[in-house]
Amino acid sequence: MKEPKSMDECSFFTRRVLSDGTKTVAWVPVGQKFVNVVYDCGACKHHGEITQEFQKPITFNCQKCGIEIIVEPLKGKKGKKKKKAE
Ligand SMILES: [Zn+2]
Repeated sequence: MKEPKSMDECSFFTRRVLSDGTKTVAWVPVGQKFVNVVYDCGACKHHGEITQEFQKPITFNCQKCGIEIIVEPLKGKKGKKKKKAE
């Protein structure tokens, strides 16, 4: 599986290192409803790739040790948004 060369090729892209050390790269190709995930499991160091239906948060199980990996959404990029501008 190849990572997208440019952001123009995907409608969603995230690269995250989770609290347990799991490294994930996830993206949704433009016009598609599935997400590609490439990960390095923090628990067993397995390097794997998964393609599944896109839903948030992206959740899957390591294909080797079975641990649940959750790519939690980023919390508030810039401050908190409690109210939407009208
Ligand atoms: Zn694992």
